[in-house]
Amino acid sequence: MDIFLIFPMILGWFAGYFVNYSSDVLPHTRRFSQPVCSHCQTPFSWADYLTLRACRTCGKGRGPRTWLVQILAVASFSYFWLVPSKALGFWLGAVVLIYFGVITVIDLEHRLILHPTSLFGAILGLIVGTYIYSHKYSMLASVGQSLLGGIIGFGIMFLLYQVGALVARFRARKMQAAGQADDEEEALGGGDVYLLGVLGLMLGKDFIVNALVLGALFGGVVSLLLIIALLVRRRYSSDALMTFIPYGPYFIIAAFYMLFL
Ligand SMILES: [Zn+2]
Repeated sequence: MDIFLIFPMILGWFAGYFVNYSSDVLPHTRRFSQPVCSHCQTPFSWADYLTLRACRTCGKGRGPRTWLVQILAVASFSYFWLVPSKALGFWLGAVVLIYFGVITVIDLEHRLILHPTSLFGAILGLIVGTYIYSHKYSMLASVGQSLLGGIIGFGIMFLLYQVGALVARFRARKMQAAGQADDEEEALGGGDVYLLGVLGLMLGKDFIVNALVLGALFGGVVSLLLIIALLVRRRYSSDALMTFIPYGPYFIIAAFYMLFL
């Protein structure tokens, strides 16, 4: 093994810390607060937290996500050290990787895309988009390409969200008529609108539509497989179609593919 791989591996381990820590505290306190045990809410000492120790009060371990994030972070940092993203290079790519990691974990665990992370993403997106286009265009034109991508991503998703809200209202009325309580499911989370704005800024106007189509296709295929699996196990009901599909991670995978591979 190349001795110099030690450097990206250590860097990746710390990136993993940051993704885990952000995913642990941001959904609950919206700021970088003291980490607490997810089972009994006892605060962790930093020494225990960073050595991934089990909680001293309730004895529960840190859970598979923590370990998975650490391993994936080390693996991806090592890989992109050897084969950096052509569009971003290693360092900007590393920041984007960490950002994608944080929003993916929080979206999967809480079905939530937080406003502070979207705001940070907008700034990062503008930098990334401008950087990518600056190889081809002037500075000002590159900023324009990035901004236009952001507007397109946000705009398309906003329209889809409005349609989704209409369907949800129609469904709520039908359920009320049938005497059932409205369960307030949304087919498309409002946070996805901001996420697609951020991805649009990153990818710019030439690529955001590709990412949208790719993400929707990928999400659609996975949903279809899920429905087939439910059918096979005879658990399928008409409600399965209406269960919330967290589309955010699919769009992130699409953007990841386009930016890194
Ligand atoms: Zn505990």
